[in-house]
Amino acid sequence: MTYDRNNIFAKILRGEIPCKKIYENEYVLSFHDINPQKKIHALVIPKGSFKDLDDFVQNAKDKEILEFFKAIPHVAKLLKVSSVEGGYRALSNIGENGGQEVPHLHFHIFGGEKVGKMVS
Ligand code: 5GP
Repeated sequence: MTYDRNNIFAKILRGEIPCKKIYENEYVLSFHDINPQKKIHALVIPKGSFKDLDDFVQNAKDKEILEFFKAIPHVAKLLKVSSVEGGYRALSNIGENGGQEVPHLHFHIFGGEKVGKMVS
């Protein structure tokens, strides 16, 4: 499957629909999930057009990959859920069996309370 330019996160990146922004730089955007599953539920997405983690690691530049993975703990710090502030879960759903709904790579950051069982 090729990248769908009309997915909701592509629209957020183009500014066509709003988001509650947490952090942005040249490579990534982070915003609050519209339907939070925990007290804190944020999303971190790369600005490049990658549908999932497999696509990203195969096709992104090393700098994009580095900046993306650095952004996740950075956002956790901004949200005060870092490893020294209670901790959090970073999770990415990949493809149909992984439960991915939006086909633009994203990591969820869950925190602010005990996140619970890893898989239900
Ligand atoms: P997935 O199931 O693909 O891993 O997660 C997609 C996430 O995107 C869901 O947690 C869902 O609530 C969130 N989401 C879907 N549409 C929007 C939107 O328009 N804005 C924001 N901020 N989050 C969205």
